[in-house]
Amino acid sequence: MSLIVAKFGGTSVADYDAMHRCARIIIENPEIRLVVVSASSGVTNLLVELTQADTDAQRRQSLIQQISAIQHLILEKLGFPNEVVVRIEAVLERIEALSEQLSVQRSKAVMDELLAQGEQCSSALFAAVLREKGAKSSVFDVRNIMRTDSFFGRAEPQIEQISSLTQAELSPKLTDEVIVTQGFIGADYQGCTTTLGRGGSDYSAALLAEALKADAVQIWTDVAGIYTTDPRLAPNARPIKEISFNEAAEMATFGAKVLHPATILPAVRQKIQVFVGSSWAPEQGGTWIRHQVNAEPVYRAVAVRRDQTLLNLHSLQMLHAQGFLAETFATLARHKISVDLITTSEVNVSLTLDKTGSDSSGHGLLNESLLQELSQHSRVRVEENLALIAIVGNKIATTAGVCRRVFEVLAPHNVRMICQGASPHNLCVLVAESEAAQVVNALHQDLFETPEVI
Ligand code: ADP
Ligand code: ASP
Ligand code: MG
Repeated sequence: MSLIVAKFGGTSVADYDAMHRCARIIIENPEIRLVVVSASSGVTNLLVELTQADTDAQRRQSLIQQISAIQHLILEKLGFPNEVVVRIEAVLERIEALSEQLSVQRSKAVMDELLAQGEQCSSALFAAVLREKGAKSSVFDVRNIMRTDSFFGRAEPQIEQISSLTQAELSPKLTDEVIVTQGFIGADYQGCTTTLGRGGSDYSAALLAEALKADAVQIWTDVAGIYTTDPRLAPNARPIKEISFNEAAEMATFGAKVLHPATILPAVRQKIQVFVGSSWAPEQGGTWIRHQVNAEPVYRAVAVRRDQTLLNLHSLQMLHAQGFLAETFATLARHKISVDLITTSEVNVSLTLDKTGSDSSGHGLLNESLLQELSQHSRVRVEENLALIAIVGNKIATTAGVCRRVFEVLAPHNVRMICQGASPHNLCVLVAESEAAQVVNALHQDLFETPEVI
């Protein structure tokens, strides 16, 4: 029998009714042996606020109460089963203690421990919902197998260890029950809890599928698949039936929140198919992400990533000299800054950095010490409030007419930066964040809502 790993996101496990819908999907498909859950919708945001230094004692109490209320509503619908009540109460006490600890001393490790509690609650409650519906199910603490480095807030999974630990500790349990485990969290070599960065549960599911050599990963969310653009932004966005790993990876990287950017990597390594669908309407089907697809259109989708920072470095050292770029990138690498787009001129280099992809508690990575280091070699200018818009598709770099068509749509807007050519799968432009929705809609209308002109 094939093995499927199913991941349910925050809105899919938001409350008892949502969990119930997900339980039905699992029970109807006996191939789903491992279930990965996010924290119930809103809980991680509340926990993030609890970790912030400027959250005062009164606000902390109110946040803890809100988290507790979400859990208690589900417990109530379950009829307060004793062993689950005990477990949830223990987690809530832990949240209180950790937030107290953080108010006295800031520590990234404690922050991650606190952020991890949302998934602890949802996994325990979800397994109870499955049991209530007659399925044999128990919770497995993913920290026993999701080995990461100790970069708290955005820890790096250690693929080989995860694979051997999963085979030894988790595989044998999948034969006679449905195992529910936590997305987003892991543990380092010392056993300290880590997190993989916001939205990381998709990545967790793909990593576990890779370790189990599963046949497919299902990502159940609140939309019926990957759309031609964010359906919240463009009412005419339509779901895509089938998309290649390459295109999906570009979409996720450039902001299609429906998939965490790293999700595709493990799937590619093991050639595991990924399905994205809506837990609210599973009958609508969804998107299959595959190695080989039937059609490879020039235009597949438009993705947008907000909150971008443009870093412009001006240095006369660049003129007829070697090593300036190497030095700049070495500095950025030391600060764990990942660069997205680059353009260079004779004495300038412009880079875009992703602030949204910072760590789990939302801390930006562009800090004073980095800026100071860069200033030693160049004049640094920082521009914020920008949005990166990516047109994703196939053969973009080798199809005549793409730029003309896109630039005509962009004509009324100021384009701050353009990148095209490195990949056949994208053309990226940087615009003011305030114009992003308008640009996405105009591009979507032209590329997907009018008959092909090239
Ligand atoms: P989950 O909590 O299930 O992980 P997310 O909120 O992380 O869900 O991702 C789902 C959301 O992604 C959708 O509600 C939608 O607004 C957004 N999204 C952005 N781009 C796309 C796209 N191209 N297709 C589908 N959804 C998208
Ligand atoms: N709960 C985490 C978050 O909100 C992880 C996830 O949902 O994927 O970011
Ligand atoms: Mg998500």
